[in-house]
Amino acid sequence: MSLANSSASSAIPSSTAPKSTRNAKFSEFATQALLPITSRPDLVFTHGKGGWLYDHDGKRYLDFIQGWAVNSLGHCHPVMRDALATQGAMLLNPSPAYYNVPMIELADLLANLSGLGKVFFANSGAEANESAIKLARKWGQLHPGASGNARFEIITFKNAFHGRSLATMSASGKPGWDTIFAPQVPGFPKAEMNDIASVEALIGPDTVAVMLEPIQGEAGVVPATEAFMKALRELTKARGLLLIVDEVQTGCGRTGTLFSHQQAGIVPDIMTLGKGIGGGVPLAAMLCGDEFAVFQPGDQGGTYNGNPLMCAVGLAVMRTLSAPGFLEFVRAQADYLSAGLQHLSSRYGGEGERGAGLLRALMLGRDIGPQLVEAAREATPDGLLLNSPRPHLLRFMPALNVSRDEIDQMLSMLDTLLAKHV
Ligand SMILES: *Cc1c(COP(=O)(O)O)cnc(C)c1O
Repeated sequence: MSLANSSASSAIPSSTAPKSTRNAKFSEFATQALLPITSRPDLVFTHGKGGWLYDHDGKRYLDFIQGWAVNSLGHCHPVMRDALATQGAMLLNPSPAYYNVPMIELADLLANLSGLGKVFFANSGAEANESAIKLARKWGQLHPGASGNARFEIITFKNAFHGRSLATMSASGKPGWDTIFAPQVPGFPKAEMNDIASVEALIGPDTVAVMLEPIQGEAGVVPATEAFMKALRELTKARGLLLIVDEVQTGCGRTGTLFSHQQAGIVPDIMTLGKGIGGGVPLAAMLCGDEFAVFQPGDQGGTYNGNPLMCAVGLAVMRTLSAPGFLEFVRAQADYLSAGLQHLSSRYGGEGERGAGLLRALMLGRDIGPQLVEAAREATPDGLLLNSPRPHLLRFMPALNVSRDEIDQMLSMLDTLLAKHV
């Protein structure tokens, strides 16, 4: 037992032995040493399998959050466990200053799948977006404005979410985030989603790029229209600006194609990936076209970038997602989920549903999202994990290999809840 564990509490059960935690009381867990950064419910998850999570008391929960659209293959999928075990016995960390095999193979796979020739690995979506911001600013120094000025401004969007580092918070358009850790990192004017004139109006001599989520996830699953994506691509090309797509949430099969921007028939200059790429392990990536790969040695890096353990898992996940038939399956499950949500919406007088693939939202027509989330989690005998990024809607982000049976169970549990709450 580690020193940290023995000094905290001897009552903490071994987290890897599900049986020993059965019927444990929540009060037996010493949670007070954790810095409170979010209000967590009084339960401790001990294990997961596929679409289900199990808590300390043995209760199971149907998981339609899946780590916030992270666990693309559900909990503890065998291909990920195999990759972890195999790579864990081979090589964990040679240093990012050397090549390793999974890093090379995953970069090559991502470049082939995306058509963007260069890949930089990071550990989180925020870090991948920081890399994109840095790359755009570097490119703007090498391609100055008419008066010779280094261009650095990146137009982003109201209600956007790009991460929690200072620069990515500044790039985000979440209400309140402009003042919470003031001063902001400058250079991120905000346009209106799906309003090309609002983007054009913000272009100035210092503008170097436009950055957006193809579907704003945290804002409540708000899609950019195909026409808007196409217009943005044309505008950025015509004005000598980079187009950066943040596909941390929408990428890696989540929206029914490998990358969401493909549905608009456009190719971005820079794309960031996170969440689903690692299927649950910390892995992210920034990709760019060869002509935009302007970092010099020393410009960008990180202790864990491209580490073989995470890249081996990412490789297993991406090979599974890109295997023949997988995305067809995702689209079929998405149609099924969408129809079920529409049915519930008309039955309970909601305002429909929206989204793409297995990133969907049910518009409730009233602000009962948080109550539903809590009631769903507390339901018995099985709980249901849902998310409400805005009070008037629920967001659904199941594993991409979710079964019809699981979708049916979720819809029926939600039906019961709606009957009680509307
Ligand atoms: C989650 C998310 C991020 C941040 O990713 P982290 O891994 O939490 O840093 C950035 N952009 C989008 C669109 C996201 O959904």
